[in-house]
Amino acid sequence: MEWRIPLSDIDFGPEEKQAVNDVLQSKWLTMGSVTQQFEQAFAAYVGAKHAIAVTNATAALHLACVAAGLGPGDEAIVPSLTFVATANAVRYTGASPVFADIGGEQDLNISYHSIEKAITKRTRAILVMHYGGYACDMPSIVELAREHDLKLIEDAAHAVGSELDGRKLGTWGDMGCFSFFSNKNMTTGEGGMIVTNDDKYSERLHLLRSHGMTTLTWDRHKGHAWSYDVVDLGYNYRIDEIRAALGLVQLGKLAVNNEHRRRLTHMYREAFQELAPEITVPFAQHAGISAAHLMPVLLPENSNKSSFMENMKGQGIQTSFHYPPIHTFTAYERSRDRNSLPITETVAEREVTLPLYPTLPDDNVLVVVEAVTHALGSS
Ligand SMILES: *Cc1c(COP(=O)(O)O)cnc(C)c1O
Repeated sequence: MEWRIPLSDIDFGPEEKQAVNDVLQSKWLTMGSVTQQFEQAFAAYVGAKHAIAVTNATAALHLACVAAGLGPGDEAIVPSLTFVATANAVRYTGASPVFADIGGEQDLNISYHSIEKAITKRTRAILVMHYGGYACDMPSIVELAREHDLKLIEDAAHAVGSELDGRKLGTWGDMGCFSFFSNKNMTTGEGGMIVTNDDKYSERLHLLRSHGMTTLTWDRHKGHAWSYDVVDLGYNYRIDEIRAALGLVQLGKLAVNNEHRRRLTHMYREAFQELAPEITVPFAQHAGISAAHLMPVLLPENSNKSSFMENMKGQGIQTSFHYPPIHTFTAYERSRDRNSLPITETVAEREVTLPLYPTLPDDNVLVVVEAVTHALGSS
C-alpha cells in the first residue's frame, strides 16, 4: 500500500551508494578495515572505550548476556514494554527474564521501584531499554545495580545519540547494545554494535563474535598470524564491510537527523496541546537529550485502538504500536505469573506510534494531528 505519510523513512543518498561501491570494488567483503573504522568512529561518537560491530542488536544483546555470565538458574530483570529481543537474549543463555513495570503514562521506561521489587537471591543482571530514545533513570539504576552487585546491560536500540547528564546512553551500564535495523535512527539494513568501557568484556565479546577464535581471517590476510586457537564457545555474529560502510556514512548524518526528529517531536507536542489535549504525549518532563526514535501517544482511556488505527489507515497515515507486552506472548506464558504489570498493561492498550523521521516535512505534523482528531471521533 502507498501511504500518504509512512511511519518511518530512510535518509539514503549518493554517499551510501558510493561507500557500498567502494567496498565491492575492494573485494574485501567482511570484517576488515571498514569495520574497524566504523567501530572506532562509533566508539568515539558515544564516548566508549570499545565498540564491537555485530550482525544485529539481538546478537549484541545475546553476547552481552553471555559476557555478563548469565546462565541456567540466573534471573535478569527486564521491561515487558519492549521488543521481544530484550527478553529473548536472556533466555538464549538459559537464564530467566523477570519482568518489571514501567513508570507511568508519562514514563514508558522500566521503573527503578519495580526493578528493586523484582530483585531476588538469583538476580544477576538488569536489562534496561530506553523507550523511544528517552533515558531510563540511569543514575539511580546504576547505583541499584552496584548495591546488589548486578550486571547492567542497556538495550539502546532506540537511543543511538541520546544523552543524559552529558553522557551518551549505552555507556552507563556495563555494556550497551545498538541496532541498525532498517527502521532505526541510523541503518545498515541489519546490523548492531556493543559498546563497553571494560577491557575484559571487550576481549570476551571479540572472541564470542567469531567462534571464540584467537585470530581472524583479516589478521591472517595481513600476515599477522598463520593459525588460531579456539578458546571459547563462540558464534558467527560478524558484520560485513558493506554494512560497516553504510554505517559510517549513516553515523555521519546522525546528529543532524536526530535534531530534526527532536524538532518534529516538539511540533507534535505543541499541536496536540492545542488541537487534541485529550491525547497524552509521554516524556513531557523528560531529562536529557533524546534520539527521538519514536513518536508515541496514548489515546484517551477506553478508546478503541484498532478502529482508531483503521481510521488513520483510511486517511493514508501509517501508525504502529510499541509494544504488545512480552509477558502476554504465548512463548512467555511461563514467566507471566511472577509479578503483575498493571501500568505496562494499561499503557500498552492505549499506545499508538505516529510517523516520525528526519525527512518528514514540517507541515505533515499538522496533517497527522488533524487526522488523529478526526480518527478519535470514530473510536
Ligand atoms: C530493533 C530492536 C531490537 C533488535 O534489533 P535487531 O537489530 O533487529 O536485532 C532490540 N530491542 C529493541 C528495543 C529494538 O527496538
